[in-house]
Amino acid sequence: MSIYLDNNATTRIEPLVLEAMMPYLVDHFGNPSSIHAHGQRARRALDDARDKVATFIGAMAEEIVFTSGGTEADNHALFGVMHTAKKGKALVISSVEHQAVLNTAHALKMRGVPVRYLPVDPWGVVSTQTLEEELEAPVALVSIMAANNDVGTIQPIADLASVAAKKGIVFHTDAIQAAGKIPLDMSTLAVSMASLSSHKLHGPKGAGALFIRGGTRVAPFLHGGHHESRRRAGTENVPAIVGFGRACELAAQRLEEDSKRIAKLRDKLQENITSNLEGITVHGDGVPRLPGTLNISVRGIEGETLLMALDLLGISASTGSACSSDDSTPSHVLTAMGVEPILARSSLRISLGRDNTEEEIDRTCRLLKDTVTRLRGA
Ligand SMILES: *Cc1c(COP(=O)(O)O)cnc(C)c1O
Repeated sequence: MSIYLDNNATTRIEPLVLEAMMPYLVDHFGNPSSIHAHGQRARRALDDARDKVATFIGAMAEEIVFTSGGTEADNHALFGVMHTAKKGKALVISSVEHQAVLNTAHALKMRGVPVRYLPVDPWGVVSTQTLEEELEAPVALVSIMAANNDVGTIQPIADLASVAAKKGIVFHTDAIQAAGKIPLDMSTLAVSMASLSSHKLHGPKGAGALFIRGGTRVAPFLHGGHHESRRRAGTENVPAIVGFGRACELAAQRLEEDSKRIAKLRDKLQENITSNLEGITVHGDGVPRLPGTLNISVRGIEGETLLMALDLLGISASTGSACSSDDSTPSHVLTAMGVEPILARSSLRISLGRDNTEEEIDRTCRLLKDTVTRLRGA
């Protein structure tokens, strides 16, 4: 019996989502830009999915631009705004962003854009005061994630976005991990742009969206035909977008129940690990945290070693951002939180999702305890 505990990396496609997609993979194959019946059938599906994604985050349909996924949405947001910005104005990001934002900022830096990084506290939180201070110099764009993929820390996005809005500065949030796990309502937030990804909320891979609030100046990122109201060229991935729309609809219906149940399982796992094993540090505990995320350091054991030992037992987890070929570099997120390198290298990210059962968590508790004890004894 294998146990999947890597839901922050990707999630299983929901059967109802696949069902919604099937007709568009087989019969309704038209190009939504075509004016004939086949095309119009696909166009209607696209419009319907756009309504669903918009409703899910409290936006308007025309504020949703479909992309190939979360990474493209982040690239679009950062390049799109910095392209129209006055030369010399900075891009400000948090130091715990996903690589999709971090490396895009780096690419902009290579093109001469000043990039500044906001520090975080030991829980991974960006303070509004730090942001306020950073905005005293000329800034074109602020990008701070809504929730972190490694440790699950939820940022005070409402307050941070308000700080930027007061200064008339565009605010982007990578809401990819937050979506479907905590409520997101663009109608009440001073957020100008938000990135979403389908496969993180039980939709298919290859679809995502960038919410662009009306009036925000963002240059197109991909150039070509007149798709997506000229904001994103390329024939839309209709089946994946249909699935994405359905996944958002289901996520909204299940959010409350799912997040409660998942948080209970995560807390049980955390409680079990910390009370049965010595030398466990839980990262990000003590501030608002995503319901399914648990990031621990196990003193004396490399994260990678533990990960592989668990894999042999059928448990799929992750070491978080450290999972590069060069495993001597610890997670930039934990480093930014002030975790010492040796502890950061012994971290394990367990991310629960909709499909996980109590039996799976009980089994994980037992196997984790046995494995850690065995590895420490060796
Ligand atoms: C997964 C993820 C991304 C990248 O999204 P893709 O759809 O896989 O390209 C970006 N940001 C965060 C926080 C993520 O968790």
